[in-house]
Amino acid sequence: MSSAFPRLLSPFELGRTTLRNRVVMGSMHTGLEDRDWDIDRLAAFFAERARGGVGLIVTGGYSPSREGWLWPFACAMLDETDAERHRTITSAVHEAGGKIALQILHGGRDSNIPGNLAPSAVPSPLTAFEPRAFTPEQIETTIADHVRCARLAELAGYDGVDIMGGEGFLINQFLAPRTNTRTDDWGGSAENRRRFPLEVVRRTRAALSADMFIMFRMSLAEFVEDGQTFAEMIELARELEAAGVDVINTDIGWHESRVPTIATSVPRAAFVDFTAAIKAEVGIPVCASNRINMPDVAEGILESGAADLISLARPLLADPDWVNKAAAGRVDEINTCIACNQACLDHTFTRQTVSCLVNPRACHETLLQLAPTRRAKRIAVIGAGPAGLSAAIGMAERGHRVELFEASDRIGGQFDLAQRIPGKEEFAESLRYFRRTLETTGVTVHLAVRATADQLAAGDWDEVVVATGVRARTPDIEGIDHPIVISYPELLRGERQAGPRVAVVGAGGIGFDVSEFLTTDHAGEPSLEQWRREWGVTRDLHARGQLTARRPTPAIRKVTLLQRKSGPFGMSLGKTTGWIHRAALEGKGVEQIGGVNYERIDARGLHISFGPQRERPRLIEVDNVVICAGQDPVRDLADQLESRGLRVHVIGGAAEAKELDAKRAILQGTRLAAEI
Ligand code: NAP
Ligand code: SF4
Repeated sequence: MSSAFPRLLSPFELGRTTLRNRVVMGSMHTGLEDRDWDIDRLAAFFAERARGGVGLIVTGGYSPSREGWLWPFACAMLDETDAERHRTITSAVHEAGGKIALQILHGGRDSNIPGNLAPSAVPSPLTAFEPRAFTPEQIETTIADHVRCARLAELAGYDGVDIMGGEGFLINQFLAPRTNTRTDDWGGSAENRRRFPLEVVRRTRAALSADMFIMFRMSLAEFVEDGQTFAEMIELARELEAAGVDVINTDIGWHESRVPTIATSVPRAAFVDFTAAIKAEVGIPVCASNRINMPDVAEGILESGAADLISLARPLLADPDWVNKAAAGRVDEINTCIACNQACLDHTFTRQTVSCLVNPRACHETLLQLAPTRRAKRIAVIGAGPAGLSAAIGMAERGHRVELFEASDRIGGQFDLAQRIPGKEEFAESLRYFRRTLETTGVTVHLAVRATADQLAAGDWDEVVVATGVRARTPDIEGIDHPIVISYPELLRGERQAGPRVAVVGAGGIGFDVSEFLTTDHAGEPSLEQWRREWGVTRDLHARGQLTARRPTPAIRKVTLLQRKSGPFGMSLGKTTGWIHRAALEGKGVEQIGGVNYERIDARGLHISFGPQRERPRLIEVDNVVICAGQDPVRDLADQLESRGLRVHVIGGAAEAKELDAKRAILQGTRLAAEI
């Protein structure tokens, strides 16, 4: 056992169950839960994390009834046939030395099904269906459904249940005045609003054997208007303990919150103060969660006494061996979750099977395998951006002899630029992981070497992989060569500095990132206090929803962001993170002008007009114009090699720059590594 993380890796008694360490894999809806035929894939996904050393796994949320489905035919645990099927999962995890709990989740007003039921008829922004308010009889039935579901979980071989009482789902809807306007015994006073969860817990405790533990998941900061006060949450936690809960599993936010809770820009362990405040009020263990992605952060929380257990969800998508690597002192080999949400939460909300941007094998363990090769080949990979790096590492892991050639003096490509954006510092962890894994897998790296077609043709390679990436597009605008024009790579690498007034041409992901870069003061790390002020987060015991007025930090430059298309800005951004970028720029006062024609650039600034008739000419007086107009593929080498008749594999931006992102680049690299 590593001496670096003695608390994190020490066993823990949870009710009558002994966990081998304090790492809990938090509940994630992967999409595999919803289809019976995917149960083996789901078991393989969990088993890989259990083999990786996780102490306790919590499944995605299973509804206790059809009324609680999150969408039609979503996963549910309804009868003994369901329970029998789940034995595949529980056996796989137990064989690998782990423990597993079933999460029970009723969607209430968030159920995307006609006829959904909720404490009160308060519509949810997450569904098109307006809920009907429960009758008292329906409330009793729903409590009984929860109890039956928990009993079925015991029958299926689970070690415990995790009752979802947060994130704005049914139980949370009973708790918050925002969604509970009832005037009977189940609403009104805080005591009445607590009645439903307490009845669920009491009756579940009575129905389960003493071997089964009960976790209760509560959102410690709701970040919605008319949410609970923290004082009410303290009372809830105390009463849950008395009702028979074995561990308070914490969570932050509702799905409709407009404060980021898990995005990259949220400081690590940002909500631990809330966890510590609950822990101080109860005698049962408390589990911390949200933006805890590395072992030192987790150990620090345990050491401070703020929590007893640490819940990691996405970090275990990114690296199933996270715990084993921490235990073996190989922290620098951890593939760190960068909190981008691009392949996990964004997939959940668009009903795609979840995966991970930095680990495309996540939830595809049985489909995408890097098995040892039977014939080791000599392979040249050209380009050390995300596509080339993942291909090189994957192929070397399989036993091929790989040499990686990179024209610049560093690895990373577009990732190297991304890590310079405020709030995207986590990308540096990915670069650290790639750098270290190139070493451990034995890839020979040639930096500052521009491989030519002649050299490669003479090199006797079995395979050549071209991952030469993209170059920033230079749009055809009169005056584009004027000295006030800066490309986004020049700006982000620090090769050119911008003046106090800047126009940004192009409002894709990079235009947004560059606008944040330009408006943020880079002197010193932003503090947690500053982040709380920016998003209006308060720890006042009596503030509803833990919200106060936002006080954004003033921008250090005047920035104007432009796009040619009309309509809203930021539509190409991630589903679950786009609103954060839009709100951040709004807070910084970035002016956004759409539907423009770029007329010319001169010493006075950027001249634009509007519409096909080039009407309403306007000058945006700026010191610099930064170009973020997308990218073109760098294909020269691939074309030269192909014209010589060489067989080459072209991946990443070099193959197709349009809408390229790191998710696609890493997936392509890994797939190629699995096939070659
Ligand atoms: P992008 O998303 O393609 O956006 C480039 C923008 O430039 C377009 O919105 C386009 O808007 C404009 N443009 C294109 N051609 C132009 C031309 N000839 N003249 C003037 N304007 C032109 O590319 P990106 O912003 O460089 O991002 C690259 C990739 O990284 C994308 O896949 C993106 O999703 C991803 N990324 C995502 C994020 C995020 O989600 N937060 C952050 C960074 C990067 P108009 O045509 O309307 O002018
Ligand atoms: Fe983390 Fe991004 Fe992977 Fe999701 S897709 S697990 S946020 S790295």
